[in-house]
Amino acid sequence: MKKRNKIPIEELIARIHALAYNLWWAWNPRAQQIFEELSPLVWEETKHNPVAVLSQVSDAELRAYLNDREFLEMVLPVLDDFDAYMSGPKKPGTSGGKAELHRGTIAYFCAEFGLHECLNFYSGGLGILAGDHVKSASDLGLHFVAVGLFYRRGYFEQQINESGHQTEDYPPVDPAMIPVRSVRDDTGKPVVCSVMIGEEEVFFETWRIDVGRSTVYLLDTDVPENSDEVRGLTSLAYGGDVNMRVRQEIVLGIGGVRLLRSLGIRPSVFHMNEGHAAFLTLELLREEIEKSGDVVMAERSVKSRCVFTTHTPVPAGHDRFPRDLMEHTLGHHCRAMGLDMDGLMSYGNIHPDQGATEFIMTVLGLKFSRAANGVSKKHGEISSIMWKDLYPTTRRKALPIGYVTNGIHVPTWTSRRSWEFWERRNSHRWKDEFHNAGFWEHLADPEVVPDEELWSLRYTLRRDLIEFIRRKTRDGRVVGGVPGMEAILRLLSYDSLTIGFARRFAPYKRAPLLFSNLERAVNLFNDPQRPIQLVFSGKAHPRDGDGKDFIKQVTQLCDHPSLNGKIVFIVDYNINVARYMVSGCDVWLNTPRRPLEASGTSGQKIAINGGLNLSIPDGWWMEGYNGKNGWSIGKRDAVFGSPEEADRADADELYRILAEEVIPGFYDRNSDGLPKKWIARIRNSLRTIIPTFNTHRMVSEYAKKYYFPK
Ligand SMILES: *Cc1c(COP(=O)(O)O)cnc(C)c1O
Repeated sequence: MKKRNKIPIEELIARIHALAYNLWWAWNPRAQQIFEELSPLVWEETKHNPVAVLSQVSDAELRAYLNDREFLEMVLPVLDDFDAYMSGPKKPGTSGGKAELHRGTIAYFCAEFGLHECLNFYSGGLGILAGDHVKSASDLGLHFVAVGLFYRRGYFEQQINESGHQTEDYPPVDPAMIPVRSVRDDTGKPVVCSVMIGEEEVFFETWRIDVGRSTVYLLDTDVPENSDEVRGLTSLAYGGDVNMRVRQEIVLGIGGVRLLRSLGIRPSVFHMNEGHAAFLTLELLREEIEKSGDVVMAERSVKSRCVFTTHTPVPAGHDRFPRDLMEHTLGHHCRAMGLDMDGLMSYGNIHPDQGATEFIMTVLGLKFSRAANGVSKKHGEISSIMWKDLYPTTRRKALPIGYVTNGIHVPTWTSRRSWEFWERRNSHRWKDEFHNAGFWEHLADPEVVPDEELWSLRYTLRRDLIEFIRRKTRDGRVVGGVPGMEAILRLLSYDSLTIGFARRFAPYKRAPLLFSNLERAVNLFNDPQRPIQLVFSGKAHPRDGDGKDFIKQVTQLCDHPSLNGKIVFIVDYNINVARYMVSGCDVWLNTPRRPLEASGTSGQKIAINGGLNLSIPDGWWMEGYNGKNGWSIGKRDAVFGSPEEADRADADELYRILAEEVIPGFYDRNSDGLPKKWIARIRNSLRTIIPTFNTHRMVSEYAKKYYFPK
């Protein structure tokens, strides 16, 4: 450590408190260590929440530790790193510092943000992607603000009852106990803004989450100015019916723009991440019409500033609102713009002249965007076909909807164990490099990281996962695990090939596909020489009956006499469970019905931990799979007569690959006990997946193609 003048302890205490309120710690394990050290119990019990930890540590106690040299030497480098990150030149990585990335402020709107397990403002992949986007935008030094909703009771916490039925709890959060802060004006009063919903003025305050150098603003209608009903408007994520949905989206879109204006933020780009936020265009339109009075010019001006990302080819995934609901909630806004209802409805319809009865949010977003994209190459093509009628003048071959393939924020998804592993084999600057292909080419070299070491990492990570599951079993949070030490010690094996399946239980993802022929499945699980085991996790949307049935099927399998102890379902999938699973599983299984997986990202998270993908060629895996870095279930151009036929063919192919390739590959050991070919596959996965499927590449691509095109 550098020689330095002694820093006053009060200043250090203040800096530790400031650190707790910036999610930079969420992707810096050494920062997390400080809080864990302060209170291992609170850290563990509050989903790794540093604000909760500090609420339990008095300044007197902190002072005592800071007088201890060892603790101080742990803290100082972290605080220095943080300061350097916040004030430093445009940050590390691929495109950091390039001028074209920094030409204006980007406002990124999304209905959910998955930033860390202690902030329950997300339901699944869309939110995780948004969270990772915000983090990379900070790393790359973009001027970036994000806007979402502050769900006081979040997305639900899952319970599974005796018969395998999912039930939902919505525990309230205390904003004072999580890393968010109220947005206040110069006089210290909360900033209050409002939107009109129907004839009612709805007020909201705002919470901010600092994520490195990015800021996420979350709007909250739970303020005393509102009626009781309106106070609850933003309390649940995807909780209510269509009436609540449209009102939440008005707050998000129209309210979000109002908030930015009241803070003096004038973005040059508005990025709508999925249709939920598309009402923002109507507020921009109102501003322009007010200025110029010319609707055509106003439309053009809005369109020149907006970009849109669509996330699903599933029709039910696109919000549609009936005309009378639109009239009831947006009539006032409409009149403020001098538009009539037909005018408004035309923005949300492909063929407005044909008597529009529904308003489609995706259509609104697309109509007011200068450019739009899907989230993988295939999904860009599918979306172009899906919405082709919106682009009648586009040449037949040209695709009106482009693509930016999703990625993950690598440091967020690197388990602490893997982090230390890669860091030990490289300088402590490894995190500046981990997006570079050359760097992984180097690390994938057996001369640099021998097979023995990679295999020992795999063992450790598998053990970490299984011990995590055993601890959760003790707490009654694992279906298929029976509490009691003796039973727990028989649950899962540290030596068995461990397959993971975790994601939202949307029916198209076909969670039970591996069990469509139960006898074949049972045989695979019970091979005495080459056993396999499976870890499930995931939530079904509260109103998705089919998804809930899948959960029931899967959890009942956990108790099947021939599968018991080999299949478990971890209750309440969240970022923490995901992190353990994507590091501990040897194989990550994904079985979507084609072409419904727009991208998927969870399989990208396992590469850095040495796991391998076994997936239907759909979404990102169409681009990621190269024949040597995992397995593809079926051919990429396969065509089926019906969904049932696809299910049968995909299941057959899955059994075949498991029996002929995956399982033998894992158990084929040399005299040192090493599966040489398996490890070679891991090396190919490291080399090919990490440098491409990360959010630094993704955000740079958004910046170059969509935010600031030449
Ligand atoms: C990564 C992640 C997802 C997205 O998973 P997909 O397989 O891409 O659908 C959903 N939920 C959590 C908690 C995740 O970490």
